[in-house]
Amino acid sequence: MPLTILHAGVGAAAAAAAYAADRAANNEPVDTERLGHTALLGALYGAMPDILEPPTNRYHRKFFHSAATLAAAVLVLDRIERREDFRSGVKAAARSAMLAYMTHLLLDSRTPMGLPLIF
Ligand SMILES: [Zn+2]
Repeated sequence: MPLTILHAGVGAAAAAAAYAADRAANNEPVDTERLGHTALLGALYGAMPDILEPPTNRYHRKFFHSAATLAAAVLVLDRIERREDFRSGVKAAARSAMLAYMTHLLLDSRTPMGLPLIF
């Protein structure tokens, strides 16, 4: 559980940074309420792999913790970026959620257990 909280914190930071970078790139001010909401969304998605596959033992990493899911997340993020029919707020929220999820898998990939290829 402590690592899930770390993942939530890293996800919140990544999501908030992505939101702030998006605002800066568009020369728009940061809305602190939206920044807070984005950080909460990032915390949820940063913890999501452990919510879907709770870390009850050292072999808990299956499909939602896999390299295949990380690759799929990269593809989904690319699709989100290419969509022009999404409102900017929806796009920013989706981007933040995917980045937060990816931070979890990237951090887990650096542990001795690593990530399974598929499950
Ligand atoms: Zn995990």
